[in-house]
Amino acid sequence: MAQKTVQDYIRTIPDFPHEGILFRDVTTLFQDPRGFRLAVDQLLSPFVGETIDAVAGLEARGFILGGAVAHQLSKGFVPVRKKGKLPAATIEQAYKLEYGEAVVEIHDDAVQAGDKVLIVDDLLATGGTAEAGIKLIERLGAEVIGCAFVIDLPDLGGRAKVEAMGVPVHAICSYE
Ligand code: 5GP
Repeated sequence: MAQKTVQDYIRTIPDFPHEGILFRDVTTLFQDPRGFRLAVDQLLSPFVGETIDAVAGLEARGFILGGAVAHQLSKGFVPVRKKGKLPAATIEQAYKLEYGEAVVEIHDDAVQAGDKVLIVDDLLATGGTAEAGIKLIERLGAEVIGCAFVIDLPDLGGRAKVEAMGVPVHAICSYE
């Protein structure tokens, strides 16, 4: 039998968190030793050989993946968090949700000017969260060398939004 792919470890939950939503549940990927390692290796594979000074993870599943990616690279990890969670001085960035607005923050000393940063998250949908993360890192003078996701939902246009900012997008798998 062929070896399982990363996508084979992802479970789909209908009507979560709202009716009509198909939620792509990556906990079944994270809890499997082979699946988790495969996902971390494949997140990184296009960036092997590139200079990366830090890995930034988007709350919350991006922390799990980004921490593992940073460890694999022997680099530091930087959290991009929802407003009000980070204890020291921050800068903030608002972005649009389907209904309303959300705000994410980063510590203002999390990266240095000129640093090359890889952003990691589990899933790319509209790209609003990734766009806000990129803006925060760029406002600190660092460069986002790429965004790596386990899942892309191409119908929602996130890839185009992120690539329009000049940032390469890598996704391990997609759901039409
Ligand atoms: P976007 O800002 O691109 O519209 O949404 C992406 C964010 O929403 C990511 O941080 C991601 O964790 C979360 N997200 C949205 N839908 C799903 C889903 O079906 N599964 C998972 N695991 N995360 C989702």
